[in-house]
Amino acid sequence: MEQIKHAVLGGGLTGLSAAYHLERDYTVFEKLDEPGGLARSEEIDGFYFDYAPHILYTVDPYASKLIHELLEGNIRIQKREAYLYHGKYDLYTRFPYQSHLYGLPAQDIIDCLSGLVDVLRDPDRPKPQNYREWLYWRFGKGIAEHLMIPYAERIWTIDPKHMNFNWIDRRVPEPDFESILRGALQDETELSGFNKDFWYPIEGGIEALPVALAKRVSDIRLNKTVTHIDPKARTIEFEGGEVFGYENLVYTLPLTNLPKFIDDIPAEVMTAINGLQYNRIKCVNIGIDRTDISPYQWLYFYEDEFIFHRISFPRNFSEATCPPGTSSVCCEIASSDHRPPRVEGDQALIDATVEGLKKAGIMRDSDRVVVADVLSVDPAYVIYDLDYETNVKIIHDYLHGIGIHPCGRFGDWQYYNMDHSIMSGKRVADQIMGRAS
Ligand SMILES: Cc1cc2nc3c(=O)[nH]c(=O)nc-3n(C[C@H](O)[C@H](O)[C@H](O)COP(=O)(O)OP(=O)(O)OC[C@H]3O[C@@H](n4cnc5c(N)ncnc54)[C@H](O)[C@@H]3O)c2cc1C
Repeated sequence: MEQIKHAVLGGGLTGLSAAYHLERDYTVFEKLDEPGGLARSEEIDGFYFDYAPHILYTVDPYASKLIHELLEGNIRIQKREAYLYHGKYDLYTRFPYQSHLYGLPAQDIIDCLSGLVDVLRDPDRPKPQNYREWLYWRFGKGIAEHLMIPYAERIWTIDPKHMNFNWIDRRVPEPDFESILRGALQDETELSGFNKDFWYPIEGGIEALPVALAKRVSDIRLNKTVTHIDPKARTIEFEGGEVFGYENLVYTLPLTNLPKFIDDIPAEVMTAINGLQYNRIKCVNIGIDRTDISPYQWLYFYEDEFIFHRISFPRNFSEATCPPGTSSVCCEIASSDHRPPRVEGDQALIDATVEGLKKAGIMRDSDRVVVADVLSVDPAYVIYDLDYETNVKIIHDYLHGIGIHPCGRFGDWQYYNMDHSIMSGKRVADQIMGRAS
């Protein structure tokens, strides 16, 4: 049996980063035939589709430096061009909604501003207990009901009253009253928020990032699907029966998969694992035979008449994502055990997506579809339900107790971006090596 000092399960950005920062004596095991995980891109007939377009931004100087080093000039800074589409009025407003009410019908703006004034008038109002209450508490009735709650229900697939709001830091822009007023009275072009400027690779889709990181990792074993972990014997088994011994185990796979791998998980931990909530995303990717499908980078849809909640236009991130004379759109459709998919089967999803794109005026009847494909992301987003913190702590305490180091978007079970995942892999490597993180 081969003995490995540091075994890293999963060759996504977290696993690659853990290995890179461990520097030596590691092996990364990845079930697919290429590394990159969620940060991969699919190439179909010259079109590059990410697993939903991934933009790069970070407030972490270390992550920023590493990303720039890895992409070595294959990176372009861009200004965000993100909007919301209001089907009922057939109009677009700038993202985020709460900073850009300008252009909406007067009654909507009045609802939003008067809701906000009610909030400001009542500083002693009861503190919120869940995300739905937080939306009313923070923005008032108008903004909560016109947009925030309908959109939350679509992306999170549950009523936000079942979610906590500890995750919103930097995720939900919180403009002050003056900015909201300014954005209601004029077309405020000054952008705000952490992703107002972002980076995207010029060539190769977002996969250029994990490909570059993987070049710095010497021992990645592909097509290795872990099937069993024995924490007492310190062994891992793979499809086909191959077994390896390990000293340290870095675990970047979903926490929800643990019962498939580990026998005799204590009942309390099993209950916590079964309590974890997450959604799934289908990316319906469509390429068409004209270049000017949209001037925007991405658009949000909060109305149920559209099957997708967000769509993006890869050509507006990088022209190299589409063959000459074409453009493409990636349409994200969320579902979960709480909100099953509205239609089943790839062709039905593509048909419903094309219908929605035509209804929103994005595709024309004359467009020729040159590529249509569906990518699945499962799990996609962890859901911060009200038991989230208790459940994750129970699972993490158990894993630490049996000598397994969880990390990454699904090992830490966090709403991580690529920079967070990279830093999470580094943090675990630093812990294992006894370095200050
Ligand atoms: C829809 C969506 C949009 C996103 N947009 C952005 C964005 O715009 N900007 C941004 O910064 N981040 C974005 N992210 C987040 C980003 O994708 C993640 O933070 C990051 O890629 C996660 O990396 P990871 O290594 O932790 O997990 P993963 O990428 O999931 O890696 C886990 C790896 O484990 C492998 N694996 C699974 N099971 C096994 C097994 N049994 N045996 C061996 N290997 C296995 C998988 O194949 C995978 O390669 C987005 C995520 C989603 C879902």
